[in-house]
Amino acid sequence: MRNIPIVISGPSGVGKGTIVKELLKKDPTLVESVSMTTRAPRPGEVSGKTYIYVTKEDFERRIRENDFLEYDEHFSGLYGTPRSFVEEQLKKTSVILEIDVVGGLNAKKLLENTLLIFIDPPSKEELVDRLKKRGTESEQALRERLQRVKYEMIMRDQYDYTVLNDDLDRAVEEVLSIIEKERNKE
Ligand code: ADP
Ligand code: 5GP
Repeated sequence: MRNIPIVISGPSGVGKGTIVKELLKKDPTLVESVSMTTRAPRPGEVSGKTYIYVTKEDFERRIRENDFLEYDEHFSGLYGTPRSFVEEQLKKTSVILEIDVVGGLNAKKLLENTLLIFIDPPSKEELVDRLKKRGTESEQALRERLQRVKYEMIMRDQYDYTVLNDDLDRAVEEVLSIIEKERNKE
């Protein structure tokens, strides 16, 4: 079986985090890269688990020191993938990166055999509904996230697979079968 980087992208609120949590439960051989960000933690988020929360100064120092495999600025924050964790883990297993479309396409250029999976919402209305129901975003943060949906939907054409997150269990099974197929390629 190959060890491959697996990028999961899609608009904010589509269900990426929920899907990734299920993937990790169902396939314990997978590991997830924990990103660094300058955005503030949401209630319930734990540093080192959802993200590693750092200051802008700290993040910028790490950029200069080449600590990131890729990084991007969106939603008034910096988000980046720590390089050493991903490179070390790929020697042993496949690594999930839940990152945005810019990061995903950059990762594909930098890492061999990167698998790009884009998660589609059933509709714009359902996406807005999920984001609102999650109840974690301020009006401003909600607006920023919805404004970026169009851009992300254009970039999705460059992804290897798109998976519709209508029913969660069905979507998780589809993603798992794609991962299995790709890991088993020669
Ligand atoms: P993302 O990580 O893409 O921003 P989340 O995983 O936080 O999205 O999901 C956003 C909200 O949608 C959460 O409240 C989650 O429970 C809900 N959700 C995820 N998948 C589904 C689904 N298939 N059907 C209904 N609600 C869902
Ligand atoms: P949120 O603030 O809602 O947690 O995440 C906003 C966006 O940032 C999501 O699309 C998420 O996938 C993306 N993201 C999270 N970590 C990284 C990262 O390390 N690099 C990049 N490029 N995007 C990231």
